[in-house]
Amino acid sequence: MMRSSDYIALEDQFGAHNYHPLDVVINRAEGVWVWDVDGAKYLDFLAAYSAVNQGHCHPRIVKAMVEQACKVGLTSRAFRNDQLGLFCQELCELTGFAKVLPMNTGAEAVETAIKAARKWGYTKKGIPEDKAEILVFDGNFHGRTTTIVSFSSDAEYKFGFGPFTPGFSILPYGDIDAVRKAMNPNVAAILIEPIQGEAGIVAPPEGFLRQLRELTTENNCLLVADEIQSGLGRTGTMFAYEHEEIRPDIVIIGKALSGGMYPVSAILADDEVMGVFKPGEHGSTYGGNPLGAAVAREALKVLVEEGLAQRSAELGQYFMEKLSKFNSPHIKTIRGKGLWIGVVLNKDAGGARRFCEALQNAGLLCKETHEHVIRIAPPLTISREEIDWALERLEEALTSA
Ligand SMILES: *Cc1c(COP(=O)(O)O)cnc(C)c1O
Repeated sequence: MMRSSDYIALEDQFGAHNYHPLDVVINRAEGVWVWDVDGAKYLDFLAAYSAVNQGHCHPRIVKAMVEQACKVGLTSRAFRNDQLGLFCQELCELTGFAKVLPMNTGAEAVETAIKAARKWGYTKKGIPEDKAEILVFDGNFHGRTTTIVSFSSDAEYKFGFGPFTPGFSILPYGDIDAVRKAMNPNVAAILIEPIQGEAGIVAPPEGFLRQLRELTTENNCLLVADEIQSGLGRTGTMFAYEHEEIRPDIVIIGKALSGGMYPVSAILADDEVMGVFKPGEHGSTYGGNPLGAAVAREALKVLVEEGLAQRSAELGQYFMEKLSKFNSPHIKTIRGKGLWIGVVLNKDAGGARRFCEALQNAGLLCKETHEHVIRIAPPLTISREEIDWALERLEEALTSA
């Protein structure tokens, strides 16, 4: 029989080494729990970077997936299918936008938003050809394509992958004066994560998004919110931008849109923006396929009907209160919103990785982000008792040497 070490050896021999995973080989999952091939059970505190907000293998989503898989999986957009229109309608009704453009991965949806913003800039705003500029922020994470890493501020994401796509300016996250100074008639859009996930769950100063909304409206450019990780209930509201009561021009979603069962992403916008795409100008073989659409429809219904955003708000607050009472020499600060919490460690704590490894041995799967942050992002279906269970293990790990 193969054991964990055998699977790890296989993966290391035949798979590219573009990740540094914890050595836990999962072969089964249910709700907030996962099991490894040796039979050990863990509480999942990462939820696949918030793709599994609805919990692993949610029975309703699995059922929708299996039923659709038995009917038709892929038609391509050369033909129509009976799931796409319903998916778009339900997503529009849920979010208050007029149109949906479906893709598969998050990075593809970000690329789609960039193309929409540029085309809008040329055709609606009158920016001279090839001069469109998009303002982005320090510490951003929007995906891994060559264009997207072109405007990353992280050397690790970029080094060796140039030449880079021009047309982006990187500004300090949260610095409204810097944005004001960077504004010029060629700016088509500002692209922002309302809370930066990969950077370590970093929120801008209160009011920043509102100020960006005012500035983009005054200067006739688009505000594009990347809600791929922060959206769909994670921060205690359907979208993180709701905390500042604004409405972006384009919203990018992915990850939990399918509850972890299938890659589905999309951008949302009103007609003035989405209308820039004409037949033939953008697309994807799998984008809007009936299997993905059926899965996403059910995943959205689960989010709403189980009140997962509200749950995230309540349990997140509870979690944060308990965490802040830990008497740990290693914790520098705790930040976050809803069930999305970054535990920032002191520089001399020896890095977040060693704590994640200790937590793994205690049955809790967390992932460090950058060197010093432990990211906490369980499925939003987690119970208070399960949180208490996790808190005990976290306290043990963070208060012992
Ligand atoms: C994960 C993520 C992406 C990229 O999504 P993929 O599906 O991995 O391509 C983009 N933006 C944000 C904010 C993300 O968290």
